[in-house]
Amino acid sequence: MISLKPYNTFRVESFASNLMHIHSEEDLFRLDMNSSAGIKILGGGSNILLTGNIPETILRNEIKGVEIIEENQEFATIKVGAGEKWHEVVLWALNHELGGLENLSLIPGSAGAAPVQNIGAYGVELKDVFSKLEGISLPEKKIKFYTKEECQFSYRNSIFKSVLRESFFITKVYLKLSKHPQLHLTYGTIHSELAKKNIQNPTIHDVSAAVVAIRTAKLPDPAKLGNAGSFFKNSIISMEQFHDLKMKFPEMPFFEEDDWHVKIPSGWLIEQCGWKGKRIGDTGCYEKQALVLVNYGNAKGAELLQLAENIIASVKEKFGIILSPEVNIW
Ligand SMILES: Cc1cc2nc3c(=O)[nH]c(=O)nc-3n(C[C@H](O)[C@H](O)[C@H](O)COP(=O)(O)OP(=O)(O)OC[C@H]3O[C@@H](n4cnc5c(N)ncnc54)[C@H](O)[C@@H]3O)c2cc1C
Repeated sequence: MISLKPYNTFRVESFASNLMHIHSEEDLFRLDMNSSAGIKILGGGSNILLTGNIPETILRNEIKGVEIIEENQEFATIKVGAGEKWHEVVLWALNHELGGLENLSLIPGSAGAAPVQNIGAYGVELKDVFSKLEGISLPEKKIKFYTKEECQFSYRNSIFKSVLRESFFITKVYLKLSKHPQLHLTYGTIHSELAKKNIQNPTIHDVSAAVVAIRTAKLPDPAKLGNAGSFFKNSIISMEQFHDLKMKFPEMPFFEEDDWHVKIPSGWLIEQCGWKGKRIGDTGCYEKQALVLVNYGNAKGAELLQLAENIIASVKEKFGIILSPEVNIW
């Protein structure tokens, strides 16, 4: 049995029957897909919660490489090995003066997992720079490409998190980056962070540094405190439900999603139920950001799941909103 503690950022203990390190497409073609145990695909383990031992064969993605494959005066398309660390890819783009990834600085995990939940932060989502991806359909052992439309990206979701879960191994991600980027500065506190440093005409480097500073102050470092970032997605509710709730809770923050839906910050809902900063045994709801659940040391995955379920129940009772986990429960 192989301990998975070093392979998940929640730092919970769990054991796998079989863990294989995948360095190339050939490693995947050599796999015995007829094994009844099934498979699970693992990147950096920063978006999973392990709640027990894993009987399936775990395929750990370690396919590397970053290169420019096409460019003109405006854009460069880069091909990224899915096992590259996402933040290293952001730094690579910055070093090549290519814009588009700066708002997505410091997100943990691998490049290959970025399309799975269409990672997003500070007003930018992966889909905004995404060109296409390449991978292997495991049941057919066939290389396939997916265009942006075929990936069916939506808020923290894609086809790889739904119908293709555990059956399509992403091996390469192609990103279209700009040589004259439009900066996204209005979301969150990027503007005030830049103003603090008296930066009036920011570069992609300044924006990245601002995002890193904000994230470092607000989010726990998984190397010091086990966590998987936001445990829950923000909540998208109907306009009708929103109007009813706004009467009862006039101070409730919201963002209009479209003409029929409103997004409510789930962190606010959780905070209103008294969970922020609460610790139960070695599990807890992070003191600076209620969306983040943490492991203070020896929490078990099942205990963290229980905390998540208790939070879901109390938010449902108070607001009638059912929180949806962003983290993948294994
Ligand atoms: C401190 C912290 C902050 C975070 N901040 C953000 C944030 O701002 N925005 C955001 O969107 N996320 C954030 N996250 C969540 C996480 O970093 C992202 O979801 C990241 O993309 C997960 O990458 P990973 O390689 O660790 O994926 P894993 O946790 O290993 O896997 C996640 C899912 O993707 C699947 N998967 C992984 N690799 C592949 C592949 N090659 N092919 C097919 N399927 C695959 C897995 O099977 C699993 O279902 C944060 C996490 C932490 C710990």
